[in-house]
Amino acid sequence: MAKIIIIGAGGVSNVTIQKCAMLPNLFNEIVLASRTLTKCKEIAQRVKDKTGRIIIVEQIDADNVGENIQLIKKHRPDLLINLALPYQDIALMDACLETGVNYLDTANYEPPHEAKFEYKWQWEYHQRYKDKGIMALLGSGFDPGVTNVFCAYAQKHLFDEIHCIDIVDCNAGDHGKAFATNFNPEINIREVTSRGRYWENEKWHSTDPLSVHQEFHFPGIGNREMYLMYHEEMESLVKNINGLKRIRFWMTFGEQYLTHLRVLENVGMTRIDEVEYEGIKIVPLKFLKAVLPDPGSLAENYTGKTCIGCVIEGLKDGKFARKFIYNICDHAETYKELNAQAISYTTGVPAMIGAKMMLTGTWKGNGVFNMEQFDPDTFMDDLNIYGLPWNIAEWKNSVK
Ligand code: NDP
Repeated sequence: MAKIIIIGAGGVSNVTIQKCAMLPNLFNEIVLASRTLTKCKEIAQRVKDKTGRIIIVEQIDADNVGENIQLIKKHRPDLLINLALPYQDIALMDACLETGVNYLDTANYEPPHEAKFEYKWQWEYHQRYKDKGIMALLGSGFDPGVTNVFCAYAQKHLFDEIHCIDIVDCNAGDHGKAFATNFNPEINIREVTSRGRYWENEKWHSTDPLSVHQEFHFPGIGNREMYLMYHEEMESLVKNINGLKRIRFWMTFGEQYLTHLRVLENVGMTRIDEVEYEGIKIVPLKFLKAVLPDPGSLAENYTGKTCIGCVIEGLKDGKFARKFIYNICDHAETYKELNAQAISYTTGVPAMIGAKMMLTGTWKGNGVFNMEQFDPDTFMDDLNIYGLPWNIAEWKNSVK
């Protein structure tokens, strides 16, 4: 029996909270706090309609450490689940440290004025969390999150040595809009327009944004063009997967998405510095977010599937082996189940499972941890139970 506070009331939160509410014996009290109270109330109403459970709602500015501390002191949770934006990670980790409460998130900290995400800011909390006797679990979404667990599973069961990992992420869904992002537009566009980066032969290599690409055959979907990008799970996997020689991350984009993105970049709408507009300062990317569709609103008419997984090469019993571990998720099915599109679903379900691992003591430790540092088996079983079944295929073709 545990009490949790969930911060943020967006697409991912809508999924996590419904999944938690379906496990009343574990998550027996749930508080939902976010910047806009009406969004909390909408989600709470949905949970009440579906499960009969009452969710306590609160308004909070999670950038404010003092407010976070007050909220935690008022409700005394066993765990705080951060499903707001990466900008809030540090303020929420500070509040958890001050009050002695465990912490979980799905995306690593980004400073608002620099499109740069790195674990260093959050890893710096390791010793202080350890001394306080509390735990932080970082990146419990799909990628990062499930992809890290897939790698840990491969290391434990499928390979004696892992040499290369290619994380491949395809959303082949169609939401019918000319241009929209599948999760928070500001975070998504900052990520996609950044330089690509991959790790090979003990060092990081960088590439121009979206300049390296190739076709890949995604099971259940078909051939799609995927683009090399930087993604945060590579930073921890490089440290935690023994013998790794190369790791890369690839994401698919359609021509229509890329054309819109190019135009928006060229006209300056993806800038994250302030510009003066009619006497006030605005950040163009934040303004763009305000006029783009809310990712949660895409769910209703979304069709098609996502396929995300890890192509892993290495040695087993002295012989070369290549496997693809992946999940396929269907937008229309996730809408039917939870009024959510598949990107929110594939992130929100692992957040619930990560919370379950912590609250049941299946994953425990004092300090700050990434997903692959724990035994993957129960998490992998839970993916099958709670809506994200996975497959392992022998994979003939290498990722070039
Ligand atoms: P949304 O933009 O839909 O939701 C974010 C929520 O956080 C909104 O309710 C927003 O409030 C709230 N929020 C923002 N700032 C504050 C603040 N200062 N104080 C309190 N609440 C705040 O995003 P998503 O649900 O799509 O994404 C949630 C998180 O999941 C993000 O960090 C994203 O990067 C991460 N993610 C991780 C993935 C993974 O696989 N690991 C994949 C996809 C997403 P308001 O309603 O007022 O705007």
